[in-house]
Amino acid sequence: MRLRYNYRVYPTPGQQEALARAFGCARVVFNDGLRARQAAREQGLPYISDGDLSKRVITEAKKTPEREWLSEVSSVVLQQALADLNTAYRNFFASLSGKRKGRKVAPPRFRSRKDNRQAIRFTANAQFRVLGNGRLRLPKIGDVVARWSRALPAEPSSVTIVKDAAGRYFASFVVATTDEPLPTVDAEVGIDLGLTHFAVLSNGRKVTTPKFLRRAARKLRRLQQDLSRKQRASNNRTKAAVKVAKAHARVADTRRDWQHKLSTKIIRDSQAVYVEDLCVAGLGRTWLAKSVHDAGWASFIAMLEYKAARAGRTFGKISRFTPTSQMCSKCRRIDGPKPLNVRTWTCPCGAVHDRDVNAAINILAAGRAERLNACGAQVRPAPVPAPRREAGIHPGATRGTRAARRESPSIRAGRTSTVGVQPQPPRPVPQGPVLTRDPVVAAIGSRPRPGRVPADQRGG
Ligand SMILES: [Zn+2]
Repeated sequence: MRLRYNYRVYPTPGQQEALARAFGCARVVFNDGLRARQAAREQGLPYISDGDLSKRVITEAKKTPEREWLSEVSSVVLQQALADLNTAYRNFFASLSGKRKGRKVAPPRFRSRKDNRQAIRFTANAQFRVLGNGRLRLPKIGDVVARWSRALPAEPSSVTIVKDAAGRYFASFVVATTDEPLPTVDAEVGIDLGLTHFAVLSNGRKVTTPKFLRRAARKLRRLQQDLSRKQRASNNRTKAAVKVAKAHARVADTRRDWQHKLSTKIIRDSQAVYVEDLCVAGLGRTWLAKSVHDAGWASFIAMLEYKAARAGRTFGKISRFTPTSQMCSKCRRIDGPKPLNVRTWTCPCGAVHDRDVNAAINILAAGRAERLNACGAQVRPAPVPAPRREAGIHPGATRGTRAARRESPSIRAGRTSTVGVQPQPPRPVPQGPVLTRDPVVAAIGSRPRPGRVPADQRGG
């Protein structure tokens, strides 16, 4: 399985400038390529092949005075920007023809310098290297200080350098990892994801969203209010926007870290895990939108899925149309829909049910049934689609948001320098520690980033 390993990196001001240039060049090449294909389409010309496009917007463009500055950055970065465009087109075509399942994919859109997330990718061809002194050597950028929160398990095949909305830089390595089967256990579990509790397990365990996440969300709301009161295009507005972005990043990091711990524990404790196939995108458009996105079920389910695949556990999603909350888990009578405020109910058969635990038990039963229906054969899960997002986690995230805030830049600098003492070039590590704490791993899927796929379809 290919996984992402993410590390915070600290480029110097000069390196930040070089990175900004590279982000810009990659964006220009991407947009030039998109414009060329759009123009060809409007003129009724055939689709420009990947090779021709590369020649036109990279090789030939470098010879023109308007684009000669493209040669200031690594050509791999430019090729990878075009590779992104080609993938976006392929996904779009596959979606049109029905070969690609799921939501419709919109045609690629132009990248903007105002995009929250700027990224460039180096492949092995670019000869990026992790140096003995712990720095990350990037062609035409320099040797960047990185904080190696954990060792890379193998030689990475590519690295993406990301600058997020909060102005932080990350190096996101793609590493091929081996599966790490966990010892077999007896327990199987059904999980009901909800709003009153984050998750309710069929064994009766209820998991609430922790307080620190709710507190952080409250603070975020206040900052958002501050921002909305600032005058447009003012310096104060820019400052407030950065504060909001930082707070968002902190909430997201903390939530992700918490979800990683919970999902790891669930996978370790159960041989099979079943969840309801929630229509998160659909719910996100209803009046529940805020709470739904806040809960982050989709990312949690994706974590369960890839961790299960890696640990040799069974993972199943049951149809969202199964009436899990209406059915008595004892006698299987369907008692009709129950309003959300009904927390417990008594079935005519005499069983008294906690609404959510009952649903979780039903999910477990439905999941088991679906697996047995598949001829009893062990169904090898399909390649796991998982979020492509880059995670950024600081070790303080779990201590709550306040601790993270207290961490001053000087301490951070001090910590970073200890990397020099203990250089960690990519090398195989014992399998244990990799799964015990994996805050920064996100499996890689070919899904486009959600931000790039608007619900509305655009022609072109
Ligand atoms: Zn009953």
